[in-house]
Amino acid sequence: MDNKVKVDGLTFVPYLTRDEIQKQVERIGESLRKDLEGSSPVFLCVLNGAFIFAADLIREIGINDCRVAFVRYASYEGTSSTGHVRQLTGLTEDITDKDVVIIEDIVDTGLTAQTMIEDIKKKNPRSVRFVTLLHKPESSKTGFTPDYAAFEIPPKFIIGYGLDLDGKVRNLRDIYVIEEE
Ligand code: 5GP
Repeated sequence: MDNKVKVDGLTFVPYLTRDEIQKQVERIGESLRKDLEGSSPVFLCVLNGAFIFAADLIREIGINDCRVAFVRYASYEGTSSTGHVRQLTGLTEDITDKDVVIIEDIVDTGLTAQTMIEDIKKKNPRSVRFVTLLHKPESSKTGFTPDYAAFEIPPKFIIGYGLDLDGKVRNLRDIYVIEEE
């Protein structure tokens, strides 16, 4: 794990290692494997940030009779939420009577999650579960609580393992937090 990561004039320090992430992916994967027994779920990966987490989690869950679909939402600019959630790519997959598992990278204010779940429920799924890699409970503006969260973290800006700073550094294998002044 690199000691510090510098990007766009900001410095980030190590926060969660790839091993810690993998352990949590295994834990959540096992819970979902049990909870989805006998189901043919649709995993809905929220682009762009969740693509790495979703790839690891879906393989960990290990249900072959599944489908994978993608949606894209945006609410962040730089290191803070704009408060406006925009759907950039909608769902094309038919999810009628399906068990849908939304896979997100991070829940901050909860606005994206809330908007997304409203959109999905209009398409008549049998059930909707919400999984997130990271949850910042103190930032909540909606009271939204994910069904599964790998880590609960304080309201600080995070990068790596799919999470970006203005589109960059998603490739980092570990997770980094912005350095305090
Ligand atoms: P919310 O709608 O819950 O406020 O924000 C959710 C979205 O904001 C996430 O999907 C992610 O794109 C972005 N976001 C929130 N917190 C962070 C963070 O600490 N780091 C990064 N890179 N993105 C974040």
